[in-house]
Amino acid sequence: MSEGRSFESGASKRRRQREQRQKDEETARKIPKLDQFFFRQSLQSNAAESQESQAAPASSSFEEQPSAIVDPTVGTIHNEADTAQPERSSEVNTASDFGPDVADPAYNADVGMWADRIPDNVREYWIAKDSCHCQFKDHDFSATETTYDADKSSRGCRKEYFYRKQDKTGQLIERNWLCYSPSQSKLFCFYCKLMTDAETFGKTGCADWRHITMLISRHESSQFHKDAVVAFRLRKCIQERVDANMVTQITAQEKYWFSVLERTTEVIRFLSERGLAFRGSDETIGSPHNGNYLGIIELISKFDPFLEQHIRAHGNQGRGHASYLSSTIMEELIELMGNEVFARILDELKSAKFYSISVDSTPDISHVDQLTCVVCYVLPSGSTERFLTFLQPQRHTGEELGNTLVTFLQEHSISIEDCRGQSYDNASNMSGRYNGMQAYIKRHNAAAEYVPCAAHSLNLVGQNSVSCCHVLHGVDLSLDSAAKTPGKKPTSS
Ligand SMILES: [Zn+2]
Repeated sequence: MSEGRSFESGASKRRRQREQRQKDEETARKIPKLDQFFFRQSLQSNAAESQESQAAPASSSFEEQPSAIVDPTVGTIHNEADTAQPERSSEVNTASDFGPDVADPAYNADVGMWADRIPDNVREYWIAKDSCHCQFKDHDFSATETTYDADKSSRGCRKEYFYRKQDKTGQLIERNWLCYSPSQSKLFCFYCKLMTDAETFGKTGCADWRHITMLISRHESSQFHKDAVVAFRLRKCIQERVDANMVTQITAQEKYWFSVLERTTEVIRFLSERGLAFRGSDETIGSPHNGNYLGIIELISKFDPFLEQHIRAHGNQGRGHASYLSSTIMEELIELMGNEVFARILDELKSAKFYSISVDSTPDISHVDQLTCVVCYVLPSGSTERFLTFLQPQRHTGEELGNTLVTFLQEHSISIEDCRGQSYDNASNMSGRYNGMQAYIKRHNAAAEYVPCAAHSLNLVGQNSVSCCHVLHGVDLSLDSAAKTPGKKPTSS
């Protein structure tokens, strides 16, 4: 801009605009394009690949593992050595591989239990499974028997409704869309329930047994039923979908991380069963001090190409990089598995109804008192003894200990009324007849008989026997003393 001019010249404006345009283009070049996040895949190449795969010999189970490595930090997918192909299944197969939540009625094979508005992941699950799991055509239909006043006839669901006779040839053709709901005693259309908002055979089902033959015929020739079947078939075939690549990649990623978790949970289970320590002094893969958990994972990886490749791609990457090998994930998995075991024990305990309890405490290595709670009950397979939990009473009076135990039992819906026995050591706060924990429990349930712990009593007998014998007086034979003195074995005489 020259002196004396108060506005920008035309040449200056054009130059500034040109520079801005170049800058924008440069920025746009640096931004990753959306198509970089997807595999390039065409139907023709699929056909060629499928021919190649048919010609190739069968690969081992490890080679069949999906080897696409997902980098969670940028979301890109690298194809390992450009040789491993993502799974090219023609069918959606997502939720079924990882086990749906069986407690959720949406995954129940009874169509009548599904909600009117079906979530997308549930729809994907049933599209993959198809109607054969939900038909119940061999079910007992006696609940549907209805007597009609007009002609005094009894009608209900019949197995022949699940077949249609072809007019010209007389051949029986299965109606794979028809499903019986044992919970509602109604007939539903699998495709209409899943893909449309249709009322009869869809949302509400049909139980008009008097006109059922005509209603079934009318439904299967209706346009909305045909549309539902077409929509189902199109959705089932991944390659026809607009998000075909996305579904294939999501499936491959899910399978990949599921395979990782499969291995880590097995290692956790192995160590837990044997009561071995998990962690070492560091968490570096390759370090001899990284503990049993990472050590075993490293050992398996020597013989497992999938795990070896996972460790190579994700091991020792530090915080913020998902590898599912860190101690945080490990502890979360241990907690989840522990909750599952605890719930199983509670189920057993409640099914057995009556039980006895045994409580004792001992300080751990950090001098924190660990009050263990053990229950004993009888199952058809025999008597069972299970550790339940570590209790944490504030004080060690009989009342406080008893109150902590009763509160814990109440929190988990275990009735103290069903307790038939209690067993503790001979300490006065536990076994005291008036102020001990025994007395506190008996005030809640008089049927909970107290039995002194046989092992503790035997120990006392041994100690007292030795203390009254002049010859052996001074020789320490007690189990307690032997335990307290590392390396010292009980002396026999
Ligand atoms: Zn239908």
